Amino acid sequence: MPKPRVDTKNALIVKREEYVNALEAILAGGFCPFCEKHLFKHHRRPLIFKGRYWLVTENSWPYEGARLHFLFIARPHIEATEKISTVMWGELQSLYRKLVKKYQLSGATLVIRSGDTRFTGASVNHLHGHVVVGTARTKKTEPIRALIGFKR
Ligand SMILES: [Zn+2]
Repeated sequence: MPKPRVDTKNALIVKREEYVNALEAILAGGFCPFCEKHLFKHHRRPLIFKGRYWLVTENSWPYEGARLHFLFIARPHIEATEKISTVMWGELQSLYRKLVKKYQLSGATLVIRSGDTRFTGASVNHLHGHVVVGTARTKKTEPIRALIGFKR
Protein backbone atom coordinates (compact mmCIF):
# COMPACT_ATOMS: atom_id res chain seq x y z
CA MET A 1 0.00 0.00 0.00
CA PRO A 2 1.45 3.41 -0.92
CA LYS A 3 2.30 5.85 1.83
CA PRO A 4 -0.63 8.23 2.51
CA ARG A 5 -0.01 11.72 1.21
CA VAL A 6 -2.27 13.43 3.71
CA ASP A 7 -2.28 13.37 7.51
CA THR A 8 -5.84 13.84 8.74
CA LYS A 9 -4.72 13.64 12.40
CA ASN A 10 -2.97 17.00 12.02
CA ALA A 11 -6.03 18.53 10.35
CA LEU A 12 -8.20 17.28 13.22
CA ILE A 13 -6.08 19.16 15.75
CA VAL A 14 -7.10 22.49 14.28
CA LYS A 15 -10.69 21.26 14.16
CA ARG A 16 -11.77 22.41 10.75
CA GLU A 17 -14.38 19.86 9.88
CA GLU A 18 -14.79 20.83 6.22
CA TYR A 19 -11.05 20.55 5.72
CA VAL A 20 -10.93 17.17 7.43
CA ASN A 21 -13.74 15.95 5.16
CA ALA A 22 -11.87 17.16 2.06
CA LEU A 23 -8.70 15.41 3.23
CA GLU A 24 -10.58 12.20 3.94
CA ALA A 25 -11.94 12.21 0.39
CA ILE A 26 -8.39 12.73 -0.91
CA LEU A 27 -7.11 9.93 1.34
CA ALA A 28 -9.83 7.60 0.02
CA GLY A 29 -8.84 8.58 -3.54
CA GLY A 30 -5.25 7.58 -2.75
CA PHE A 31 -3.64 10.53 -4.55
CA CYS A 32 -1.37 13.36 -3.53
CA PRO A 33 -3.52 16.50 -3.46
CA PHE A 34 -0.58 18.81 -4.25
CA CYS A 35 0.86 16.89 -7.20
CA GLU A 36 -0.02 19.00 -10.20
CA LYS A 37 -2.03 16.34 -12.02
CA HIS A 38 -4.36 16.10 -9.01
CA LEU A 39 -4.27 19.64 -7.59
CA PHE A 40 -7.18 21.07 -9.50
CA LYS A 41 -9.44 18.07 -8.77
CA HIS A 42 -10.21 19.72 -5.45
CA HIS A 43 -8.38 23.06 -5.39
CA ARG A 44 -10.66 25.91 -6.44
CA ARG A 45 -8.45 28.93 -5.87
CA PRO A 46 -6.72 30.79 -8.72
CA LEU A 47 -3.15 30.12 -9.74
CA ILE A 48 -1.21 33.35 -9.15
CA PHE A 49 2.24 32.40 -10.48
CA LYS A 50 3.55 29.32 -12.20
CA GLY A 51 7.30 28.95 -12.06
CA ARG A 52 9.48 26.10 -13.24
CA TYR A 53 9.61 24.67 -9.70
CA TRP A 54 6.74 26.28 -7.78
CA LEU A 55 3.05 27.01 -8.13
CA VAL A 56 1.75 29.98 -6.16
CA THR A 57 -1.92 30.02 -5.30
CA GLU A 58 -4.31 31.06 -2.57
CA ASN A 59 -4.94 28.56 0.20
CA SER A 60 -8.41 26.99 -0.05
CA TRP A 61 -8.34 26.60 3.73
CA PRO A 62 -6.82 29.80 5.13
CA TYR A 63 -5.78 29.90 8.77
CA GLU A 64 -8.41 31.47 10.97
CA GLY A 65 -8.01 35.24 10.96
CA ALA A 66 -5.64 35.42 7.98
CA ARG A 67 -6.39 38.34 5.70
CA LEU A 68 -4.48 36.64 2.90
CA HIS A 69 -3.06 33.13 2.82
CA PHE A 70 -0.96 31.90 -0.10
CA LEU A 71 0.67 28.56 -0.83
CA PHE A 72 3.95 27.91 -2.60
CA ILE A 73 3.56 24.34 -3.82
CA ALA A 74 6.66 22.52 -5.08
CA ARG A 75 6.01 21.28 -8.62
CA PRO A 76 8.01 18.08 -8.17
CA HIS A 77 6.69 15.76 -5.48
CA ILE A 78 9.22 16.27 -2.72
CA GLU A 79 8.57 15.98 0.99
CA ALA A 80 11.48 17.71 2.71
CA THR A 81 13.10 21.13 2.62
CA GLU A 82 16.56 19.59 2.27
CA LYS A 83 15.47 18.28 -1.15
CA ILE A 84 15.09 21.83 -2.50
CA SER A 85 17.89 22.53 -4.97
CA THR A 86 19.72 25.83 -5.11
CA VAL A 87 17.89 26.89 -8.28
CA MET A 88 14.57 25.95 -6.69
CA TRP A 89 15.40 28.14 -3.65
CA GLY A 90 16.26 30.92 -6.04
CA GLU A 91 12.91 30.66 -7.75
CA LEU A 92 11.10 30.60 -4.40
CA GLN A 93 12.87 33.83 -3.50
CA SER A 94 12.01 35.49 -6.78
CA LEU A 95 8.34 34.41 -6.70
CA TYR A 96 8.12 35.53 -3.07
CA ARG A 97 9.36 38.97 -4.08
CA LYS A 98 6.82 39.09 -6.92
CA LEU A 99 4.03 38.16 -4.50
CA VAL A 100 5.08 40.85 -2.00
CA LYS A 101 5.09 43.40 -4.80
CA LYS A 102 1.79 42.30 -6.39
CA TYR A 103 -0.11 42.41 -3.10
CA GLN A 104 1.94 45.29 -1.63
CA LEU A 105 2.59 43.29 1.53
CA SER A 106 4.06 45.29 4.40
CA GLY A 107 4.53 42.16 6.49
CA ALA A 108 3.92 38.43 6.02
CA THR A 109 4.95 35.13 7.56
CA LEU A 110 6.51 32.33 5.51
CA VAL A 111 6.29 28.85 7.03
CA ILE A 112 7.55 25.63 5.43
CA ARG A 113 6.98 22.35 7.26
CA SER A 114 9.34 19.60 6.23
CA GLY A 115 9.49 15.83 6.43
CA ASP A 116 7.61 13.50 8.75
CA THR A 117 4.18 15.03 9.45
CA ARG A 118 4.17 13.53 12.96
CA PHE A 119 6.80 16.15 13.83
CA THR A 120 5.52 19.14 11.87
CA GLY A 121 1.75 19.21 12.03
CA ALA A 122 1.50 19.32 8.23
CA SER A 123 -1.63 17.82 6.76
CA VAL A 124 -0.31 17.36 3.21
CA ASN A 125 2.95 15.50 2.78
CA HIS A 126 4.08 17.33 -0.36
CA LEU A 127 6.40 20.24 0.26
CA HIS A 128 4.62 23.58 0.36
CA GLY A 129 5.19 26.94 1.96
CA HIS A 130 2.51 29.07 3.57
CA VAL A 131 2.54 32.85 3.29
CA VAL A 132 0.18 34.21 5.90
CA VAL A 133 -0.84 37.85 6.06
CA GLY A 134 -2.86 39.28 8.90
CA THR A 135 -3.66 42.83 9.86
CA ALA A 136 -1.45 45.27 11.73
CA ARG A 137 -1.45 44.65 15.51
CA THR A 138 -3.68 46.91 17.56
CA LYS A 139 -5.11 46.70 21.08
CA LYS A 140 -8.06 44.81 19.60
CA THR A 141 -6.23 42.20 17.49
CA GLU A 142 -5.55 38.60 18.46
CA PRO A 143 -2.77 36.32 17.24
CA ILE A 144 -3.24 34.10 14.21
CA ARG A 145 -2.26 30.63 15.38
CA ALA A 146 -0.82 27.78 13.35
CA LEU A 147 0.33 24.28 14.20
CA ILE A 148 4.07 24.03 13.68
CA GLY A 149 4.93 21.01 15.83
CA PHE A 150 4.29 19.31 19.15
CA LYS A 151 5.62 19.60 22.71
CA ARG A 152 5.30 17.47 25.83
ZN1 LIG B 1 2.68 15.25 -4.42
